[in-house]
Amino acid sequence: MPFDRYNRNIDYLRISLTDACNLRCVYCMPEKMTFRPREELLSDDELHRLIGLFAAVGFRKIRFTGGEPTLRPALVDLVGHAARTPGIETIGLTTNGILLDELAAPLRAAGLRSVNISLDTLDPEKFRQITRWGKLERVLAGLDAAARAGLRVKLNAVVSRGNNDREDVVALARYTLDQPWQVRFIEQMPFGNNAGFQTQSMVTEEELHAVLTAAYGPLELVNHGRLDGEARLYRIAGAAGCIGFISPVSKPFCADCNRLRLTAEGLLRLCLLRDTEVDLRPLLRGGADDAAITARIREAVFDKPWGHGLEQHLIPSTRGMSEIGG
Ligand code: SAM
Ligand code: SF4
Repeated sequence: MPFDRYNRNIDYLRISLTDACNLRCVYCMPEKMTFRPREELLSDDELHRLIGLFAAVGFRKIRFTGGEPTLRPALVDLVGHAARTPGIETIGLTTNGILLDELAAPLRAAGLRSVNISLDTLDPEKFRQITRWGKLERVLAGLDAAARAGLRVKLNAVVSRGNNDREDVVALARYTLDQPWQVRFIEQMPFGNNAGFQTQSMVTEEELHAVLTAAYGPLELVNHGRLDGEARLYRIAGAAGCIGFISPVSKPFCADCNRLRLTAEGLLRLCLLRDTEVDLRPLLRGGADDAAITARIREAVFDKPWGHGLEQHLIPSTRGMSEIGG
């Protein structure tokens, strides 16, 4: 099993399949964004190889993300490959849901069991403003298809002050009354490309807790407060699903971090909010054998930083969220 120098078991790899996206969420990237040419991204064969090597090192969970991972033509095949890889026990997908209505059933058949859909509001006009041109109805169709295909659903909403921090939060949480889903509210994180905006408009877990309690009554703590992934879970009395808070800024969960991230062009990012990266491409494209790549992965795991440096005002600057994948 892979352990870092702080004795954390690192067994979860999030793989960005592309830096490109079909939306331009205001907190994530500028409207005029340029994306990497296809040949700079890891090929499907390179990804197959790396998934096998990470599994052999002891990684057990893979999440495909982006940019927008549903833009990658081979997404269904990649999920199938990961599902057939010995050692990989869990596969997840994080998507904006725009293309999910056609993909949910094939993804389920390929071995996907759960999907995280990013959805910040149920108001069509506000959705368009946040994403700059997205159509809410497309995401709702994707959500419906995911539920019909038998995928476990988690909704992720990034909350911005004065934008979607009141009635939108209440409306999204309403899903949990009769659906067995998690609806999770995420604090905005600062990245160099947009740090001022992201910091000023962050809304804390405490504020959202108060908004939800005013609407639905006291929230019951689930699992005695033990984190589910990154989320602290609560339940509205009698509800089928859970509300989650992901609060990396106000309540960092670095001590429990179990993940590395692989960018679409093949850099291992050791902490979401630190710029430390290990480039695997020279090895992959320079003819290195499996043993050499495996050794590099083990070193990277060992070198994972303890945690982020937001309290010391260290803000990641080399890439934005869409180039890492969340
Ligand atoms: N395009 C896919 C999606 O939107 O789900 C996957 C990539 S996206 C970068 C992954 C997640 O990061 C989304 O839930 C998005 O809302 C979130 N995100 C983007 N920028 C963020 C920021 N500055 N702070 C917190 N979350 C952010
Ligand atoms: Fe695209 Fe996801 Fe970023 Fe929105 S959050 S712009 S959907 S990568």
